[in-house]
Parts: sequence; C-alpha cells; structure tokens
Amino acid sequence: ADPLLSVQDLTVRFRTRAGTITAVDKVSFDLAEGETLAILGETGSGKSVTAQALMGLVPRPAGQIAGGRILYKGRDLLALPRSETRKLNGTDLAMVFQDPLSSLNPVFRVGAQIGELFRRRQGLSRAEARRKAIELMDRVGIPAADRRVDDYPHQFSGGMRQRVMIAMAIALKPRVLIADEPTTALDVTVQAQVMALLAELKAEHRMAMILISHDLGVVAGVADRVQLMYAGRVVETGDLREVYERTGHPYTQGLMASIPELNGPRERLTPIKGSPPDLTRLPSGCPFRPRCRYATDVCAAERPELLPLPERPASHRAACHHAKEVVTDVVTG
Ligand code: SF4
Ligand code: MG
Repeated sequence: ADPLLSVQDLTVRFRTRAGTITAVDKVSFDLAEGETLAILGETGSGKSVTAQALMGLVPRPAGQIAGGRILYKGRDLLALPRSETRKLNGTDLAMVFQDPLSSLNPVFRVGAQIGELFRRRQGLSRAEARRKAIELMDRVGIPAADRRVDDYPHQFSGGMRQRVMIAMAIALKPRVLIADEPTTALDVTVQAQVMALLAELKAEHRMAMILISHDLGVVAGVADRVQLMYAGRVVETGDLREVYERTGHPYTQGLMASIPELNGPRERLTPIKGSPPDLTRLPSGCPFRPRCRYATDVCAAERPELLPLPERPASHRAACHHAKEVVTDVVTG
C-alpha cells in the first residue's frame, strides 16, 4: 500500500547572519498508517525544522523550503495553496509542541480553547463543544474534567497542560500526530505518563505518529522505527530494535550508550563528545568526522550516502563509510 505520508528529498534553508545554512538536507522517509517514527538528534540536527516543514510552519522570511516533496495521501503539501493545507490542519496532520504555555492562550479558559475547535471546524453549539471538551479532557487523563474545563492555563501543572495540548491536537482525530519534544519540559515520572498516553491514543485512533526527541530512552517504548539526524541529514534509519541491536553509525552508537536496555531503566544521558556541528562551516566529507573515533581518510574525502547495511533488512540504512565495523563493535560489545 502507498504510505500515508512520504517525504522526499526535503531541503530547508535558513538565512543567518553568518550565511545560508541547510538545516534539512535531502531528507526522505515514509510513514504508514498507524506507524510511529521517532526522529532523533541533538539541537540543530534538523529534526524540529523537518516537523515545521510538515506543518507549513517554517519561519519566514529567514527560512525557505528549497526543495523536495511532502506527499500526504499522494498530494504534495508543498504545492497546495494555503487555503487547502489549512483544511488538513487538525483533521489530517496535527502537532503537539514542547512548550504548552506558549501555545495556549492565557486569557481564555482551557475548555473554551478546546471547544473552539469543535465550534469552528465542526459547527457545534457552545453547549455541545463544551461537552466534547470535557469528554476529551477526561480521555487524556485530566482529573475532575467537568470542573477543570473552566480553569485557565496557568492553573494547570506542566504535565496537565501538556495533556490539554494533546487533547487539542487529537480533537479532530488527525491521521498523523507530530509531537516535537512533547515531554522535555516535564519531570521523568510525568514524561513516562504522557508517553504512555500518546501510545494509548495512537492505538485507539490508529494514528500515525512522528515523535521528535533528543532522548531515545523517552521514545523507545512507543516508536516502531527510528531516524537519526545529524547536521540536517539522516545518518541512520530502521526498525527500532534492529537499529538498537545492530547500530550502524557512530553517532547512533553514542546516543545508544545511555540506554543499556531498550525498555529497562535509564541511566543519565551521556552526551556525545565534541560540539554539535556549525552548519555554516561543515567539514569536508562526513559532517560527523570531527567527533568520530572511526574516521579515516575516506571520511574526509567523500560524504557517505545513506545505504543499506550488508546482510541486514533493506529498511536499515546508515550513512557511514565504516558502518560494518560499527555494527560488529556493537554486536560484540
Ligand atoms: Fe565516522 Fe567516517 Fe562514518 Fe563519518 S563516515 S561517521 S567520520 S566513520
Ligand atoms: Mg527542537
């Protein structure tokens, strides 16, 4: 079957004072109905900009989609007029952001903000919209929803506010939910609760999900597939377990080091040595080279392409000249 969403060679550039940078560089991936893809990387890897591009939110005029296609049910979102993409917002693609306070309006009651979606998009009456808002708040695990519906955003804890944002995102039953660091601002226990909620909702609505995170441990329980990004490019992609067990890129290997077991307890995240790349001055060849302990001459000479690993499923691909050695090291410990 055709994928629900197919991103092909997506390229996004930004003008900065230091010059033009390519924040997203020919990124391609497919997403099937009901599937969850985790996009992982450090700050500046291009993961958030990829999400912004999907939602038509690349900040203008500094940012610009410089190439590629985003096919949703076969239609190229980048070629659709704004009036058309706006109709898809919420019903087809919806997004949950990291910081609910900046996305909720502080002067309106939470129930009215949720209800507004039903009034505007489904033509419900005020009373019906309020009832739906309570139902939804209850569904996302907000206690005493019938009372809290009249509270203002600042009266909710961070975790409860994120639940409100999730309620709004799923209100119109989107086919694809995009969540950009949905739990980063929350403490560890609440993080786990919010991730469990997302997993439940996904199963309930057969939604596809794109989870964007810098922390593999947070998304490991929910993701089917992972995609690692570095300096705007995909450096490794495949099924979660396959990538975990047969890691083919030194960058992934670094991120994995902090989670000894996929669903087990997590140790503190050990950041990968070296600084994130300066996109205005990338090294020749492989952008990860300055931080890579596997680097050899070929890494300076040639940019590695994203290719299947030998004797692995075709869906597992890595962009590393020495992928084979990396896999061997991971497997033999
Ligand atoms: Fe390291 Fe070379 Fe692989 Fe880049 S291509 S990640 S520098 S081994
Ligand atoms: Mg980000």
